[in-house]
Amino acid sequence: MSEHRTTVAGVAVDTRHWIGGQRVASPRTFTDASPIDGAPIGEISRGTATEARAAVAAAKAAFPGWAATPRAERARLLHTIADGVEKRTEELANVETVDNGALLRSHRRGVMPRVAHNFRFFADWLLTLEHEDFATRGHTNHVTWDPAGPCVLITPWNAPLMLATWKVAPALAAGNTVVLKPAEWSPLTASLLADIAAEAGLPAGVLNVVQGYGSEVGDALTSHPDVRRISFTGSVPTAQHIAASAAANLTPLSLELGGKSPLLVFADADLDLAVDLAVEQYDNAGQVCLAATRLLVEEAVAEEFTRRFVAKASRLRQGDPRDESTDIGPTIHPRQVTKIDGFVRRALAAGARAVIGGHPGEGQYYAPTLLTDVRQDSEIVQEEVFGPVLTLQTFTSEDEAVHLANDTRFGLAATVATGDPERAERVTARLVAGTVWVNCFFVRDLKAPFGGSRHSGIGREGGTWSFDFYCDLKNTVTAP
Ligand code: NAD
Repeated sequence: MSEHRTTVAGVAVDTRHWIGGQRVASPRTFTDASPIDGAPIGEISRGTATEARAAVAAAKAAFPGWAATPRAERARLLHTIADGVEKRTEELANVETVDNGALLRSHRRGVMPRVAHNFRFFADWLLTLEHEDFATRGHTNHVTWDPAGPCVLITPWNAPLMLATWKVAPALAAGNTVVLKPAEWSPLTASLLADIAAEAGLPAGVLNVVQGYGSEVGDALTSHPDVRRISFTGSVPTAQHIAASAAANLTPLSLELGGKSPLLVFADADLDLAVDLAVEQYDNAGQVCLAATRLLVEEAVAEEFTRRFVAKASRLRQGDPRDESTDIGPTIHPRQVTKIDGFVRRALAAGARAVIGGHPGEGQYYAPTLLTDVRQDSEIVQEEVFGPVLTLQTFTSEDEAVHLANDTRFGLAATVATGDPERAERVTARLVAGTVWVNCFFVRDLKAPFGGSRHSGIGREGGTWSFDFYCDLKNTVTAP
């Protein structure tokens, strides 16, 4: 580590902010550590209101030029950024894995190609946005998608670059300028993205990156009167804070929050498929907002389901996420292990039974856990754990299954395993969730609306819905 650089997995990463096309250091730093072994990997500039305001000022100054840049040129630049991501896939994948502990093989083969796709998809979608024209009593209505202005994008650590670019790409495509605030537990790939965007020729100030703790840098960004959109992915308490902070300026918000999603397994389901879907919920050590952490299984097949689940889950290999044969890596931070274990201890004390796991492993690893004998109104069923902890409850009727599925304050996703298409139709119609998967999980198309109901969020992003959020729609009515 030199003063403003660190080398992670052989890749040099600048540890400063990126503001107005310049690297900017803060007087103080915070230490970024790897979840793999807890080792420090970087001293990162610790942003304050000063850097936050400078970044918004840079975004404001760059906005008129970027907004006036022809769509085709904006799209071309986004494709050039995608080229840069593709060229550096291996570096980005390695740095992300050391920084957030998720599997290297999924970063390499799934996540980083998806990051490049985020830029390509929204660049192409921009060019398909139609200006609607229609007549009213001889007058023409002409609807345009105007860029909104500087956008603040705040992202979590569980899929850092993926979730950041899912916002950055449509915001930039729409003609907005951006201040990105990545999570303090996984700050590195956002810095590499700034390098890639600069190399691609993105004008100074169009993309800015501010590092730091949300509690120290957040309010200056979210309460700033020049910010015209805030898009946030993270936890409910932070979202409530941001919503209050944004209220002063009535800044439009998009909130992608937590979940406590159900997997409903009916007796008529392909049981092996249902078990595969259930075990998949341990991916990324359970640190997935969409994870179906509540297994709701029809009583008639619960015993057999549990037997097959235990057999399959016991074969999962937990360890170094850089190892190709690893299935489950570490959790993000020692604090996360303590938090997860707190949920499990309290559940066990309240009468739950650990069918597997129920305890931490070495370092920041937590044993994949399945708890039964849990009450519907208990903390472990109602609150998001964000770790490899699933609960199993049984039901005896479709009505009961739907009731249990909907009976939390969240509404992000739901998965239904059934062999009966009519049942699938009936049940999905009654589920409160932004995404429902039938006999599958995690299949996502950027064209589809994505978001949650109730405490899982406000608004939808994806395809046209992203442009709806990141644009001010204008209707111009012209007399004949
Ligand atoms: P978090 O709310 O603690 O932090 C998210 C981001 O907010 C970080 O960048 C943090 O620095 C910032 N922040 C914290 N306080 C702030 C403040 N006062 N003002 C402005 N910014 C502030 O969440 P986390 O622990 O990083 O992420 C986990 C949560 O994210 C889980 O609840 C998970 O379900 C959710 N999540 C949701 C989705 C989705 O698409 N719905 C996707 C991934 C994660």
